[in-house]
Amino acid sequence: MAMDQSSDPRSSLAELGEKAGHYALWIMAVLAAIAIAIPLFSGALRFAVAFPLIVILLAAAWYLSRRRADGVVAINGNAQTNPQDDHFLVDVIAALPDPTILVGADGRVVTLNASATTIAPSLRPGELAVLALRIPEVIDAVRRAGVSRRPERAEFAERVPSERWFEVVVTPMPDQGGFAGRSTQRLLLTFRDLSPIRRVEEMRVDFVANASHELRTPLAALSGFIETLKGPARNDVAARERFLDIMEAQAKRMARLIDDLLSLSRIELAAHVRPQTPVELVPIVRQVVDALQMLARDRGVTVTISAPKEPLVVSGDRDELTRVFENLIENALKYGASGKRVEITLSRAFNVSGGEEAVAAVRDYGPGISAEHLPRLTERFYRVDVTESRAQGGTGLGLALVKHIMNRHRGRLNIESRSGEGATFTVRLPMSTLAPAGARKSG
Ligand code: ADP
Repeated sequence: MAMDQSSDPRSSLAELGEKAGHYALWIMAVLAAIAIAIPLFSGALRFAVAFPLIVILLAAAWYLSRRRADGVVAINGNAQTNPQDDHFLVDVIAALPDPTILVGADGRVVTLNASATTIAPSLRPGELAVLALRIPEVIDAVRRAGVSRRPERAEFAERVPSERWFEVVVTPMPDQGGFAGRSTQRLLLTFRDLSPIRRVEEMRVDFVANASHELRTPLAALSGFIETLKGPARNDVAARERFLDIMEAQAKRMARLIDDLLSLSRIELAAHVRPQTPVELVPIVRQVVDALQMLARDRGVTVTISAPKEPLVVSGDRDELTRVFENLIENALKYGASGKRVEITLSRAFNVSGGEEAVAAVRDYGPGISAEHLPRLTERFYRVDVTESRAQGGTGLGLALVKHIMNRHRGRLNIESRSGEGATFTVRLPMSTLAPAGARKSG
């Protein structure tokens, strides 16, 4: 599609200004030449002096006018380009999403887009790029690109206001040919924010380190007890019984950890596929509470369920939702046991955009969680008290699993707690309009 730019008032004005500047020099030179020539034209000798003077003046005017034009190029970038092309280039650079800077042959900024100011807030057109950028890696890449005439790449990090990583590619633009062999080559600096990729890389490295550490601890315990049983405790029946119990607990912990890791990776793999089966929540919660009755009795905790008569049907994966309630209710029983009661409330509500949702809150009256831990609780392996979590058979992955399952179900997890006042873990899931298979409406 052709774009008619001849009517662009900006370019017509620029052209007019440039022409006027160009001719003004000539007019001044001719006037000066005439002024010198009039009093000198009387004698042949005088003419011999005046003529070369006039020629020198005219040559100087010609040279200066070319230098001027070249100077305009240094800002605009290129003497031979049509000003309309330069305006088009400015518009294109302004429209690019990544920070982009065009530097002229004289090292001054020709144009830059708004996102480039996030890299160097003081950068303005017409300024020397290296002075405003002040990033050694970028300056070095600019220098290298100027020499090699090939795209050069560099990476650098910014620490303030937050840690961010960038990649810059300095690409020499095709040389349009300058006056008297002067290069009019411009450099295009394009930046890319590498921070999200770096963060994912860091998370992956942390995750592998954490998972290995979590597995190595029970493994070391198992190896230690095997050594002892083969050596010093070979004939000690009482010690053998005790050690075997500990070994069983450690082996179970390893199995739980591997199970949680596999569940996490399975849920992450299917993160973008929203489960579509209509599932009724209340029976799932009741089933989980029944299964945890032994633990509740062990800890001396009474569990109550309050639920509406009508079914709360959501689109979901039954096993995953069971996992959510297992984790939340088990945590309440383990960490909130001192409060002696756990209340589970199921209800329906409307979200801010008017959609109906099922709400399930698990409330305990235990020690609670202090505010600084709340934002990090759903991170993998994050625990308020590592020793207590291990003593309770925790893996540090339970709430991370809950968060991922909620994301996949387009649901939300909310944690409210104050130190000494117990904790409430609330999940909200969009209601399904479909009835679960084989369900009867009650109430
Ligand atoms: P874990 O396997 O350690 O239980 P979770 O991801 O389920 O891992 O929980 C992370 C941490 O959150 C726990 O180690 C515990 O410190 C804290 N926590 C979870 N639920 C509660 C609760 N109801 N009361 C107090 N602290 C809790």
